[in-house]
Amino acid sequence: MQAPQPLPVLDTLGRPLHDLRISVTDRCNFRCVYCMPKEVFGRDHAFLPRAEILDFEEIERVVRVLTGLGVAKVRLTGGEPLVRRNLERLVAMLAPIPGVEDLTLTTNASLLAGKAQELADAGMHRVTVSLDALDDPTFMRMNDVGFPVARVLDGIAAAEAAGLGPIKINSVVRRGLNDHAVLDLAGHFRGTGHTVRFIEYMDVGHSNGWRMDDVVPAAEIVATIDARWSLEPIGPAYRGEVANRYRYRDGAGEVGVIASVTQPFCGDCTRLRLSADGQLFTCLFATRGHDLRGLLRSGATDADLADSLSALWRVRDDRYSELRTADTVELPKVEMSYIGG
Ligand code: SF4
Repeated sequence: MQAPQPLPVLDTLGRPLHDLRISVTDRCNFRCVYCMPKEVFGRDHAFLPRAEILDFEEIERVVRVLTGLGVAKVRLTGGEPLVRRNLERLVAMLAPIPGVEDLTLTTNASLLAGKAQELADAGMHRVTVSLDALDDPTFMRMNDVGFPVARVLDGIAAAEAAGLGPIKINSVVRRGLNDHAVLDLAGHFRGTGHTVRFIEYMDVGHSNGWRMDDVVPAAEIVATIDARWSLEPIGPAYRGEVANRYRYRDGAGEVGVIASVTQPFCGDCTRLRLSADGQLFTCLFATRGHDLRGLLRSGATDADLADSLSALWRVRDDRYSELRTADTVELPKVEMSYIGG
C-alpha cells in the first residue's frame, strides 16, 4: 500500500478531483435529437444487460472511496436516472457518506413529479432539470417522444415543493431548432429563484451529426437576453463551475451559459465520470474508459481501489474542448447518454 497522498488528488494540470458524475443507467424515456437520436437508439438498440450494471452497494463503495480522495460533489445522471427503479434507496445510501457535501441529480423531469418528495426524504440536496423549450411543438421535436412541457413544469413544481430548489434548468440551444426559445425560457424563470443555463450544442458522442453551424455561441445568447433584460456578469461560485453567470440588473435573479465550444473551461475541470457498467471517464469527450467494475468484483480492498483511482486521476491531462478541431469532432467519442452530461 502506497503512503497516503496529499488530498485532494491533483491531475497533471493541477486540477483537483472534486466532482463525480454517476450514470446509473444508459436508458432514457426521451430521444433528444442532440443526445440519443432515434435513428441510432431505436427499438432494437442493445442497452446494457442487468448483470453488467453496478448495483447500489457497488456505487456506494466507489463514492465512499472517492470521498477519501477529495470528491465532495456527487451528481446522479443517466440516460434518465429516474428510470432506474428505487433510486431513492441509492440516494439514502450516498447522502450520509462523510465528505459528500453536494448530492444532486440531472433529470428530464418526466418522472420527477412522482419522485421528488421521496428523493428529498432520502437526502437529495437539489436537482437540475433539462428543458429545451416552453412551446410543445419545439419541445416535442427535440425530445422526439411527444412529451409535453406541462409535465416537466409539474416536476419542477414538485421538486420546489419538496425543498430541492433553487433549481437549475439546463437548455441545449441548437440553431434552427430552439434558438427562438431562449427568451421564452429566460422570461418564464426570471424572478422564480430558479436559474436557466443555456448550453452550447456540443459534439458529444458520435451520433448527433454535430456541425459548428448549428452552434449558437454563448455570446450571442447573452446578447439576445441582454437586449431584452439588462445583464451584468458575476464570478463563478466555486472552482470548476461550468456556467458563466449573469445577474439581471433589475434583480430578477440569474441566468447562465455553458460555453464548452466557444469558451472552453477545461482548465478548471474537476469532473470524473462513472458509467452504469463501471467504466471511468476522465473527460466528457473521451474515446475510451477505464474498467473499475472488474476491480470492484475481483475482491480488491478499498485501499487497492483508492490506489487505482488516484493513479488514474494523477495522470489525467484531458482538455478536449480546448483542443477541438474538425478532426477531433469525428473521433469515436463515448455517447453522452452512456456517461451522463
Ligand atoms: S472537455 Fe473534458 S476536460 Fe474539458 S471541461 Fe469538458 S470534461 Fe472537462
